[in-house]
Formats: sequence, C-alpha cells, structure tokens
Amino acid sequence: MSATAENTFDIVILGGGSGGYACALRASELGLSVALVEKGKLGGTCLHMGCIPTKALLHAAEVADTAREGSQFGVKTTFESVDMSGVNAYKDGVVGRLYKGLQGLVKSKNIDYVEGEGHLVATNAVEVAGRRLVGKNVVLATGSYAKTLPGLDISGKIMTSDQALFLDYVPARVVVLGGGVIGVEFASVFKSFGSEVTIVEALPRLVAAEDEAISKQLERSFRKRKINFKTGVKFSGATQTGDVVQVSLESGEPIEADLLLVAVGRGPVTAGLGYEEAGVTVDRGFVLATASCQTNVEGIYAVGDIVPGLQLAHRGFAQGIFVAEHIAGLNPPVIDEMGIPRVTYCEPEIASIGYTEAQAKEKFGEIETYDYNLGGNGKSQILATQGFVKLVRQKDGPVVGVHMIGARMGEQVGEAQLIYNWEALPSDVAQLIHAHPTQNEALGEAHLALAGKPLHAHA
Ligand SMILES: Cc1cc2nc3c(=O)[nH]c(=O)nc-3n(C[C@H](O)[C@H](O)[C@H](O)COP(=O)(O)OP(=O)(O)OC[C@H]3O[C@@H](n4cnc5c(N)ncnc54)[C@H](O)[C@@H]3O)c2cc1C
Repeated sequence: MSATAENTFDIVILGGGSGGYACALRASELGLSVALVEKGKLGGTCLHMGCIPTKALLHAAEVADTAREGSQFGVKTTFESVDMSGVNAYKDGVVGRLYKGLQGLVKSKNIDYVEGEGHLVATNAVEVAGRRLVGKNVVLATGSYAKTLPGLDISGKIMTSDQALFLDYVPARVVVLGGGVIGVEFASVFKSFGSEVTIVEALPRLVAAEDEAISKQLERSFRKRKINFKTGVKFSGATQTGDVVQVSLESGEPIEADLLLVAVGRGPVTAGLGYEEAGVTVDRGFVLATASCQTNVEGIYAVGDIVPGLQLAHRGFAQGIFVAEHIAGLNPPVIDEMGIPRVTYCEPEIASIGYTEAQAKEKFGEIETYDYNLGGNGKSQILATQGFVKLVRQKDGPVVGVHMIGARMGEQVGEAQLIYNWEALPSDVAQLIHAHPTQNEALGEAHLALAGKPLHAHA
C-alpha cells in the first residue's frame, strides 16, 4: 500500500504506554500530527499491570494493617479477613476510571489512535493490519515484559506480577524470587494480607540499587514484620506438585510454598518488531538511545522501558514529552537520569533521588553525609514509624543524594527532587520552613543539621 496523505504524520508512535501516550499528548498540544499505535490497552503496563494496580493493593494492605494495629492507638479494631473479590473490585475500579479518563483525553486531542500490533517496516514507517503509517519521525515505545529465569516456566502457582495482580485468594505461603522493587512491594502486600512470606535474593541485600543504609533499615523493618528473606542465596529450581511449589536453593535448603512469585526484572519488548532490520542498534534487546532519546537512525527515537536505565513510568512520561518538544523545535533540556525520583511503595516506604553514598564517593571524591533519625520527628512518633532521611552532599557543595525510609516517605520525594535538581546547598533548604508536625519536616531537619544548625537532632 502506498503512503496516502491521511497516513502521513509528523510523528508515528509505536506503543501507547507511559512513554508513548505522553509523547502523543504533548505532540498534539504542540500542533503536530500524531498516530499512536497500541496493540493492547491504552496506558500500557503502568496503568493496567504495574504502578496503579499494585499501589491499590498496597493501599488495601495498609488498611488491613491499620485494622490490626488499632489497639496500639487506643482504638478497638479487629482484623477479620481480606476479601480478594472486594480488593479486586476496588483496584479494578481505580484502574477503570483512570483508563476511561485517559481514553477521553486522547480522543479529545488530534491524535490518530490506531488499534493493532505494529511493526517498523522502514526507517519512517510502521505497518498495522495492512495500514502503512508514514512518519517524519518515529518513536519506539513498546515497553517491557516480566522476565523469568531459564528453565522456570510461568504456569499454575508459579507466576509473575502479571498473574499475581489478579489473584482471587490469599495464598498461605509465598516465596518471592527477587528482592528488588517489585519483589519487596508484593512481599509487603502478601504479608499484610496474611501470607507467610519468604524473599529469595541472589544479591547480598534487598533493594540493592538503593543506598546500603536503606537496605539495612528495610531488612530491620521486614524482620520486625516477620517477612522472611534470604539474601546472597541463589535459586536453583522449582517444581509443582498439585497446588504446592517446591523451591530449591543452591544452598540446598528447600522451601515449600503455595505460590512462587517470580520478580527477577523486566526485559524490553523489541524482538520481531523490525527494529534491527531498520538499522536501529539494539543491545541485549534494549534500544540504545542518546540522552535526547535519539537512536542511531535519524528520525527514530526511543522512550521508556526499552531504553536502558530506570524502568519507571514518570521517566517514560518525561522522555515522551522531551521527544515531542524536541521534534517541535523547542530545544528542551535533556533529562538527567540521576534527577529522576525513585519510590518503592512497600511498608515502610522508600524514596530516593540522586547518588547513593557509595556512588557519590566514586563520582565526587570528598563527600559528607547526614542521617536524620525519624525517632526525633513528631509526626513519625504519632504514626509509630521508624526510619531516617539520609543526605549526601559534595564536601562544601550541593546535596547530591537524598535517601528516605519510613511511613509516607514516597510523598516527600517531590521536595527531594527539587533539592537535587536545583543543586541546593543544605543552607538553602535550611532557611525554608517545613510544617510541624509532618513527615516532610524530617527533610527540613536533616538539612538544618547538615547546615550546622540542628534542631530536634542529637548530632
Ligand atoms: C508490577 C509493576 C509495578 C510498577 N510500579 C511502578 C510504580 O509504582 N511507579 C513507576 O514509575 N513505575 C512502575 N512500574 C514500571 C512502569 O509500569 C513502566 O516503567 C512503564 O509502564 C513503562 O512505560 P513504557 O511506555 O515504556 O512501556 P509500557 O507501559 O509497557 O507500554 C508499552 C505499550 O506498547 C504496546 N506495544 C508493545 N508492542 C507493540 C506493538 N508491536 N504494536 C503496538 N503496541 C505495542 C504494549 O501493549 C504497551 O501498552 C511498575 C511496573 C510493574 C510491572
């Protein structure tokens, strides 16, 4: 089929997840003509299988814990049980409303939304069900999938987050393979729902991408919550007999479970889509792109989880917006990967931005750190949460890392990202007033202390 006028666009976007749809919305706001190709549901992983449904489960988990812990606050509550059909109805309701809203948003813009599986068939064209969409620019945004390990088949009671999101029962015993973000979030949910949970992680610590002090605190908190974990231990296999999974570890120790959740990372969805045939450089499945999201082929961009780096929805949004603005000639500033906030929504929550202590030492040489313990924070005492705010600064220079753990710390990352991205000095932040009593105040207290004028801190 030859390219007709209505099949030619300023931008053709392959994939309607966080990266792809953000690019489409911004491009249309800038007056560019856009085709957005999606084979599944608009909104992609984040809306349907990732951020939103998992955070709904985590909220239900928090409600369960609150019911259990009422007496600690002098309120007589009893925890009865978790009704998964009710939890799923609540979760699906949240997803459904956001999905409807997003569909309406895309419809209201001048975006040609094309349903179907697309393939890159030339450096400037995507084909979907026999329709050839020609773009002056093409954006690859096909996202990622849940990986497993060689020989470990996903079936029955061995599942990834894709299936675990739709459970209609609470399993009695769960083994979570992988102590990264997705693994610890699900471990936290299962424990709050009443499962006995064991995390198996090959690396020496949980959430190994975070500052070491954060891992230590999370491990302390998980121990207190009676979430079992085995770190530095390699998984060697799993077999299913009836409804029971026998998990074997290289240490020789078997663990029996009613569900094995495989949370060993996410791989890029790029195979068989024509990327390499079009000359796009791909490394172990990931599309290599510059800081301005350009691939090695002129006019082809890549955004989101298919590009090596943090696999986060807001990174995809930012890259999608960046590409639209770049194509429109607005000359937007490139994205600093270290300036992207990271939140792990387990209980206790973890939030961070910038360099860990070890990374900062390597990058900047001389650094200073300060840990503000939540024990001195009024709101933390009220919430009965433990943790800290840790700051990393260049010696006599700006704050280059903020690492927080404790209840509601995810919500504090907004200020932390301003501090990092504006290269604030501790004294800049120390003069700003933080409301009392809030969890946010802990961030202020940490900066007061690092600026040499501690208030509710012993050092
Ligand atoms: C369990 C879980 C929890 C998560 N929690 C968070 C969180 O709390 N916060 C956060 O920031 N991130 C979270 N993430 C990560 C987040 O979901 C991803 O980073 C984000 O969705 C990536 O966006 P993307 O646009 O690159 O890809 P995706 O969202 O995966 O979208 C890609 C889209 O492309 C479509 N597609 C693929 N191939 C084709 C084709 N050939 N033709 C047409 N369409 C195609 C797919 O159907 C999909 O809709 C989570 C992920 C998981 C799995």
